[in-house]
Amino acid sequence: MRPGVGAALVRCDECGGHEYGGAPDCRRCRLLVDGIVEEKWQHFFDQWRGESELDVARLIAAEPAQHDWRVVDAALDRITCDECGDRLSRGPLGCSACNLAHGFRYAAIESDRPGVPPGNEHAIRVNVSVVRRPQVTSRQELLARRLLLPTLLVGFLPTTAQAQRISAMIKSDPTPEGASVLIDHWFRAQQTSAGYRIADKTVR
Ligand SMILES: [Zn+2]
Ligand SMILES: [Zn+2]
Repeated sequence: MRPGVGAALVRCDECGGHEYGGAPDCRRCRLLVDGIVEEKWQHFFDQWRGESELDVARLIAAEPAQHDWRVVDAALDRITCDECGDRLSRGPLGCSACNLAHGFRYAAIESDRPGVPPGNEHAIRVNVSVVRRPQVTSRQELLARRLLLPTLLVGFLPTTAQAQRISAMIKSDPTPEGASVLIDHWFRAQQTSAGYRIADKTVR
């Protein structure tokens, strides 16, 4: 079950970072990230009892704009790419069939949860997609996206300027330790200002 808005960040027993943020290298975090997509698929596929899972997956992949992004990503996982033999959209950078499917996935529906900044769900879907397709992303971008994912899941979202500042600082110190400290620092500042906003409303 993915974390709700306002949930606390939880440490992963396996990698020591925040849960979800150690993917794809940490096995436990990787399974948690896959679970975001799988949980939604299981719920969706329940309504198609008696049908072949592959047939339903092909149907969904043909009309991504009609479905939640998690259902679309899970459908792609169930289809084998004719060109490279990997799960469709998750093959090597040079696979044109995978690249095409990857482009289409962004037509899917992304619904923000109540109380999050607009675009939070889009950021989650992009970061999940990058973490599950790491071979086509630079190491620095992967690092920033995986470490930000736990904070996005609990409902935060860096502004464009903050995101650019974080990427620039990660470029100058591309170690996981340096990046973790940086993102934890940003996250604490966000929590503090969110706390103030809530307190303001209470006073009024
Ligand atoms: Zn982990
Ligand atoms: Zn492929």
